[in-house]
Amino acid sequence: QPTVVFDDVHFGYEPDREILHGLSFEVPAGKHVAIVGPSGAGKSTIGRLLFRFYDPWQGRILIDGQDIAQVTQASLRESIGIVPQDSVLFNDTIGYNIAYGRGGASREAVVAAAADASIMPFIERLPDGLDTEVGERGLKLSGGEKQRVAIARTLVKNPPILLLDEATSALDSRTEQEILATLHRVSEDRTTLAIAHRLSTIADADRILVLDQGRLAESGTHAELLQAR
Ligand code: ADP
Ligand code: ADP
Repeated sequence: QPTVVFDDVHFGYEPDREILHGLSFEVPAGKHVAIVGPSGAGKSTIGRLLFRFYDPWQGRILIDGQDIAQVTQASLRESIGIVPQDSVLFNDTIGYNIAYGRGGASREAVVAAAADASIMPFIERLPDGLDTEVGERGLKLSGGEKQRVAIARTLVKNPPILLLDEATSALDSRTEQEILATLHRVSEDRTTLAIAHRLSTIADADRILVLDQGRLAESGTHAELLQAR
């Protein structure tokens, strides 16, 4: 599994307004790191830099030791699976949506994708299985069901790195906890960066980084952060 490193990253969207002020942190191979902090702290900006929607003003972002400035966006998308807060699904079946994650949506591809052990726990909880229509024409999925499909679609690509960008923030806390528990079970050895504004979201993280106004205010395990208070 790859390691993700931010090394003294400075960045802003406008020339005179720096948003990240020399941010350094590491997501060790196969570990789960969570970034929490108030709205406006710069959390989503980290995800955008990781996908090279923007490049840092200064400093480097490394995946397995390689500066991503040398890596194309297309190949970053191969190695990083993202689950955003509001996933957009196609108006088609659940099976189509999941198989699309692997680049094919034939009947065989749907069946093959559905047999993927890593996504089983997500789809077994869905109503009526893979043939359920998503979107206006068919049954409307709940927010939690939609996110289950979105996560399954990302996991069938088997990305070595997972970026959860407020992936469960819009859900009620029981649904959120269920989905997080499932995610933890299936992505245990995947390098994972979870961005969140709620502490409840990150109970399972190996390490927590608290971001405040573009700087790391604190970092540590859950226990260490509690002790520091
Ligand atoms: P968070 O995810 O922690 O809420 P963001 O990374 O979205 O924070 O935003 C950090 C700062 O960058 C905020 O001050 C926000 O207003 C600013 N910002 C975000 N996106 C843009 C943009 N596209 N153009 C200019 N400023 C932006
Ligand atoms: P595919 O490779 O199958 O086209 P992508 O990885 O490009 O899938 O995108 C999957 C979903 O995540 C899409 O809904 C896309 O709009 C969304 N997405 C991709 N990158 C980002 C990002 N950095 N922030 C938020 N959403 C993203």
